[in-house]
Order: sequence, then C-alpha cells, then structure tokens
Amino acid sequence: MRRPVIAGNWKMYKTIAEAVDFVEKIKPVAESAEHCEVVVAPPFTALAAVAKAAKGSKVAVAAQDVHWDKEGAHTGDVSPLMLSDAGCTHVIIGHSERRQDHAETDDLVNRRLKAALAAGLTPIVCVGETLVEREAGRTLEVLERQFLRGLAGLTSSDFSRIIIAYEPVWAIGTGRTATPEMAAESHRYLRELARRQFGQEEAGAIRILYGGSVKPDNVGGLMAQEEIDGALVGGASLKVDSFSALIQYRRG
Ligand code: PEP
Repeated sequence: MRRPVIAGNWKMYKTIAEAVDFVEKIKPVAESAEHCEVVVAPPFTALAAVAKAAKGSKVAVAAQDVHWDKEGAHTGDVSPLMLSDAGCTHVIIGHSERRQDHAETDDLVNRRLKAALAAGLTPIVCVGETLVEREAGRTLEVLERQFLRGLAGLTSSDFSRIIIAYEPVWAIGTGRTATPEMAAESHRYLRELARRQFGQEEAGAIRILYGGSVKPDNVGGLMAQEEIDGALVGGASLKVDSFSALIQYRRG
C-alpha cells in the first residue's frame, strides 16, 4: 500500500508569522487525516519557525531547494545539513520554476538528490514536460530523460526513500489541470521506468504525486486514479480552507 501525500509548496509566499499561523491551523486537520501524510514547503526564511511549530504534529516540513555541498562558498545557497538543522525532513528538488528561472539541469537535480539522501532528507523530485514538448508528442521522452539523468546512480535502497512529483509545466499555476487519465498515463510510464531501473517491488512502492492546478474540486478525480499517490500543490495550498479541503479529499 502506498500512503498518499498531500504536499503544499508555498513558493515565495508567507512571512514567518503567516507561515506559523497557517501551520497552527492545519495541525488539527492533519491530525485527523488518517489516510495521508501532510507536508508543507515554506520559503527558507520560515523553515525553522514552521518546523518548531509543527514539532510533534503530523505536519512534515520541506524546503523548496537544496545545494549539494555540505558547506562552502556558495552565496545564497543552503546545504542539506542546514535544512535538517532547521527541522526539515523533506526537500523539493528540480521544481520546474527552478529549472526555468535558475537554469536547473537534470545533472544538478541528480547532485542535489544524492546530497539530500546522504543527509537523511526525503527528496520530492519533480519531473514534467512543457506545453511545447507535449504538443510535439515528446512527453514520455522528456520524462524518461529527466528520470534517467535525474536519478542516475541511485541504488534501489536510495530509490525507496524518494517521492516523485509529476508536474506538467503547462498545468502549474495556469488553472489548466491534466485530466486524471492524462496524469495517470505519465504516472504509469514513470512507474514502468522505475520497474526497468530498480525492479518490480520498488516500482510498486514508489509514490508518484501529481502537481499542476490541483484544487479541492478536482483532487477527488485525480486521487481516484490508482496510479496517483497524492498531490504537490502550489496555489491552493496557500489558504487554510483550500489546503484543509485537499487534505480531506475523497476519491471519486
Ligand atoms: C507547484 O508549485 O508545484 C504547483 C503545482 O503549483 P499550482 O498548484 O499552483 O499549479
């Protein structure tokens, strides 16, 4: 059984006070949600305060990016050790906004991923095609490249510790959601890649989240797909009401 994950990516939103207030309100909702894990990814500035507020609750805290070195002359970067020190247990890696705005490559994703694993963090690795790539019929080819390069060199035991998020770039923040069937097709392909690369058991156990304009009114349809193991949510994770509704999704 793959335990679903509902993860909120707060991007560059929320002050420390706003983030802590949000977590205080979401804690009881997460507490009563037996069916899924809940993760929030605040901006770097709020990580330590949110982790402190979430301590002992069922809300896990993720960073939105990580450097691969333990320490060093990397102005503006944050190391895996620093994230653990701040109370993070998870980290998002390779989000399309990092790929687009910060020239993130599959090779850098791979370095970040290995460093996060070495530090004991749970990586949420994002993959997904752009609109141009989808319209050119290249979706599966892009997913294969991102999967093989981004996850290169991982052992099966490493692989069992990660979460994958399939996020079609054209669906992020646009209000255009992939239909549940479209998402499921990509998820099936990613699971097939996992089977070829890491084996049947690992492929069956890997959690693959869907991300891209997930909202309370479409989460049930997406989660009804056997292949979809949760959601990575941007916009709808910023309000307590909508994030609570997402956590309390019903399949169907
Ligand atoms: C995201 O940031 O990963 C995301 C999927 O955003 P949104 O839900 O706003 O499309």
